Amino acid sequence: MITFVIDSRNNIGHPTRKGRMVRRLLKKGKAKVLKGGLKKGQPLLIQIFKKFDKSKTIKANFRIGIDPGYKHIGYSVFKIYKNHIELLLTGEVETRTSEVTKNLSDRQMYRNVRRGYRRKNVKRKFDLVKFRHPRWKNRAKYMFQPTHRHLIISHINLLKWLFKRIPKEQCKLHLEYNRFDVQKIINPNIQGKQYQQGLQYGFENVKAYIRDRDNYTCQICKKKIANIRNEVHHIIPKSKGGSNRPNNLILLCSDCHKKVHTGKVTCSPKLIKNKDFRDTGVLNSCMKWMYENFGKKIPIVKTYGYITKAVRLAKNISKTHAHDAMIIALCNEDGFETEFTKYTNYDHYITVNFKQYRRHIRTWTHRLEDRKYYLIDNNLKKKCIAHNRRRRTGQAKKYLSLEEYRRQYPKAQLIAKSGGPIMKQSEKKMTFRRGDIIKCPKGVATVQHYMFRHKEIITTQFGRINQKYCTKILNNSGICIV
Ligand SMILES: [Zn+2]
Ligand SMILES: [Zn+2]
Repeated sequence: MITFVIDSRNNIGHPTRKGRMVRRLLKKGKAKVLKGGLKKGQPLLIQIFKKFDKSKTIKANFRIGIDPGYKHIGYSVFKIYKNHIELLLTGEVETRTSEVTKNLSDRQMYRNVRRGYRRKNVKRKFDLVKFRHPRWKNRAKYMFQPTHRHLIISHINLLKWLFKRIPKEQCKLHLEYNRFDVQKIINPNIQGKQYQQGLQYGFENVKAYIRDRDNYTCQICKKKIANIRNEVHHIIPKSKGGSNRPNNLILLCSDCHKKVHTGKVTCSPKLIKNKDFRDTGVLNSCMKWMYENFGKKIPIVKTYGYITKAVRLAKNISKTHAHDAMIIALCNEDGFETEFTKYTNYDHYITVNFKQYRRHIRTWTHRLEDRKYYLIDNNLKKKCIAHNRRRRTGQAKKYLSLEEYRRQYPKAQLIAKSGGPIMKQSEKKMTFRRGDIIKCPKGVATVQHYMFRHKEIITTQFGRINQKYCTKILNNSGICIV
C-alpha cells in the first residue's frame, strides 16, 4: 500500500509505504484522511498537522512515463534515490473520446430535424421558406476539434491528479512521441507528389472506389457483378455509429444485400479490409501541442514507439498500456537507460485505473415546465385544468391539453401561466448519476448507469443493485478511480 502525504502548509511530501505509522497517526488524531481509502487497494491521501522538516528528507526524484492514446492512456510513476529506482504506481485511463463523437452526431441530427420542422411551418404561413444567413461570429474559436480537445484534457487531468500527490519540482516527464506517417504504413515506397494522391485518387466518389477495390465481385457469394445491379452496404449500420469511410463499406449483389437486411445471412465485421487510421490521425494532430505545452511546466523527455516495442520484445513483456508506460519511463531518445536496470524494484507497486464520466447532463438544466391553464370558480379558488396548448410528447394521460379541453368547453374563461425552466430536477428525483461512488451491501462501487424507472443501479463491480440498499458517498468528479 502507498500513502500520499501533505503537511499543514499544503507542502507535498514523499509517498510512504509505512502503513502502521499512518494508522497510528490517524488514530492519535495527528493526521486526517483527505481522499481515497474507500475501496480496497485504493491509495490514501492524508494531511499531517505538522510542518515538514526538509533537511531530514532523503533527496529523491520522481519520473512519470506516459503512453498517450485515443481511448486508453497508460501511465507509470517511479521514485529514484541513491541509484535505486522503484516503481510506485501504474495504470490506465479510459477516456470518453468515442462517446464525444456520438454525442456530436446526435446533436446534429436533432438540430436538423428541429430546424426542418420550423422551416416547414414558416413556409405554410407566409409562403416563404425561412432562411437566415449563417452567423459565423457565434462560432467559438477553439484551437482543436471537440474530440481532440477531450483527448488533451484527459491527459492534463491525469497529470493534475498526480501533481496533487507527488512534488512537482522533483518530477520529470517521459512522453512517447507518436507521430505516424499513415500513408507510409500503407505504401512504404511513397514519395513527394504521391502524398497528395491517396487511395481514392482518380475515382468519382467512394462508391466507385469500393467497386474497384472489391474487384466487381459480390463479397458473400463471390459472383461477378459487372453487369448486374450492385449495391454498397454498411457493415456496421449508420444507426449504430458506423461511418461512411471505405473500411466500413462493402460491395454486395442485390440478392445478397436483401438477405443481409432481412437477417438470413450475416455480414460479419471480419470482412473489413483496410485498417482504420482515425485514432492515429487524432493523436498526430495533438502530439506537438502536448509536447510543447507540458514542456513549459516540467522537464520533458521524448521517446519513440519503436524503442518501446524493441524493449518490450527483448524483455518479453506483454503488451498493455500500463506496461508500455513503465518502459517509456525508463527510456530516453536514444534507447533504454542501462544505469538503473540493476536496482529496479518492480514488486510492491499498486495499479490505479481511472475512467472518465460525463458530468454535465443537459436534460436537467434545459427542461421546461409545462404551460398551465387555470379556471377560477365561484369561491375565487384556482384550479389547474390543462397543461400546454397542444399535447406534449410523453405528457401524462390524466392531464388534458388546452386543445382537448376547448372541444368540451369552448367558451370557458381561463388564466394562463407560462412555464419556466426547471433547474434543479437532479436533487429531487435523480439522486444517482454515472460516476458517483456508492456504498451497497457488497461494498463500495462506482455507478455505471442509473435506471430511474426501475429504481435500480448498475455498478461496474457488482452488477444490478436495488436503489434502496445504496447510499451515495461521493459525487461524480469527472476522472474516477475504477
Ligand atoms: Zn451475392
Ligand atoms: Zn445495406
